[in-house]
Amino acid sequence: MGWEYPLHYGTIRISKINLGVIMKLTVLGAGSAFSMIQYQSNFLLDFDGYKMLFDCGSDIRWAMHDVKLGVNDIDGIYISHLHADHIGGLEWVALNRFFNKSLPKVDLYISEYLVDDLWSDCLKGGLSTYQGAVLGLNDYFNVIVIPENGTIPLHKIVGLDHDYLGWDLTPVQTVHVMSGYKIMPSFGILLNRNKEIKDKVNTLYITADTQYSPY
Ligand SMILES: [Zn+2]
Repeated sequence: MGWEYPLHYGTIRISKINLGVIMKLTVLGAGSAFSMIQYQSNFLLDFDGYKMLFDCGSDIRWAMHDVKLGVNDIDGIYISHLHADHIGGLEWVALNRFFNKSLPKVDLYISEYLVDDLWSDCLKGGLSTYQGAVLGLNDYFNVIVIPENGTIPLHKIVGLDHDYLGWDLTPVQTVHVMSGYKIMPSFGILLNRNKEIKDKVNTLYITADTQYSPY
């Protein structure tokens, strides 16, 4: 097992576990929302070939193109929060895949806290009116709403019953922005091996955008 730390973007091999299964994390962008060079902070998680974007920001097209991936390579998307540098590429994914009937809908993993606002405040304007029809979020994505304190075994994400991956994904809510009246949360993810293996990476935490939250 080894770790490689890219300066810009690249692939970090997380671990090699049973059956030769490899879980990979690719840093698609390491910049802020305003970066012109390093792309916005979005990631690609590869669970034994199942490719899940961890956030899908406005410049995801270019970030993916740089690692030789396109919209048809995506199996799932996890959304941490509703800033455009994390969701601004969703309309691009939605429309491309809607018109490509040869591929299944992209799985969209999102907290129950965010799902209604994602549609009504962010995507509805561009996606609801279709020639001859009114569409909703479920017409574009296979929406998987994650309840509070929900945990999803990775093998379920990949689509198999047998727990051959041995990892669980749990959203972790933090405070991103506080208006004084309302909290804008962000949902990072905790990847946990469900049976700890000595001398191996057993936990990976990706915070997404957050502020210092000591309690
Ligand atoms: Zn943000």
